Amino acid sequence: MSTTLRNDWTIQEIENIYHQPLLELVYQAATVHRKSHKANEVQVCTLLSVKTGGCPEDCSYCGQAARYHTGITVKALMDKDDVVAIAQRAKDAGSSRFCMAAAWREVRDNRDFDKIIEMVKGVNEIGLEVCCTLGMINEAQAERLQEAGLYAYNHNLDSSKEYYEEIISTRTYDDRLNTLNNVRKAGISVCSGGIIGLGETHEDRIRMLHTLSNLEQHPESVPVNALARVKGTPLADLPKVDTWEMVRMIATARILMPKAMVRLSAGRAEMTTEEQSWCFMAGANSIFTSESEEMLVTPNPKLDDDRKMFELLGLKPMQKDRATSPTV
Ligand code: SF4
Repeated sequence: MSTTLRNDWTIQEIENIYHQPLLELVYQAATVHRKSHKANEVQVCTLLSVKTGGCPEDCSYCGQAARYHTGITVKALMDKDDVVAIAQRAKDAGSSRFCMAAAWREVRDNRDFDKIIEMVKGVNEIGLEVCCTLGMINEAQAERLQEAGLYAYNHNLDSSKEYYEEIISTRTYDDRLNTLNNVRKAGISVCSGGIIGLGETHEDRIRMLHTLSNLEQHPESVPVNALARVKGTPLADLPKVDTWEMVRMIATARILMPKAMVRLSAGRAEMTTEEQSWCFMAGANSIFTSESEEMLVTPNPKLDDDRKMFELLGLKPMQKDRATSPTV
């Protein structure tokens, strides 16, 4: 398999990759992975919800949307010192990246944003790659974050443009792409992927990968999430995502975007070690961990279980300077 970076993939080419027999697909993805990365290294990214719940948006899968009765505890923006202390513990435990998430529709130029800027500076000072996911941002806000030392910004496409409207009505796909554009223009590394299991078709998954892999520059990180079903949300009763669907999605993303960090994200808590191993074999080389054993408001594996899994599989956490993957 070629590892040449391309952003002219056709839907037909992606369909041909995605629909291959699974073992052939995994073999090809593993080959690309080994040519582009150290296959025994996994980027450990710690996620912290710095402002939880009460979000005005209507993302059908999200337990933090104020309009759904999910029973989560709404928490105001955390204090910088508490955030930096958690970041330091994450670093000591082997993380190279620290991602701060706020359940906002968009960033507003107010005192809360000033606090976020101080958090970015503080986490940057302890030597971690700092990432934020704060909703939509404009060019000036992206520049301010970059100047404070922000390394990466997460903003997922979630699904295909066509299916997006079925799951979110309070903002558009083009709004998502505009934010990614603003992030890129500010010189911040882009983290963008999606979620499977929202009721979308295989065609929607292929279209989302088509959009991501045909961006002028590939995202440096591509999270692949399985729907984490939250009681009280419109998607709570959908079936659990089949692991082989995750494997297929991860493998295709790996082949299309060879240099990206492909992150096995939400859904790990419902996977066995064997199932996660298949995802690593298919080219996943990044995971989220969290001190609270929650991925925002849904469960995430215990840190100790991840440590044992790494030992068993011979994986080691990637050091910060290796966790940077320039893309064309
Ligand atoms: S996914 Fe983000 S924007 Fe959507 S409701 Fe949840 S917190 Fe708000």
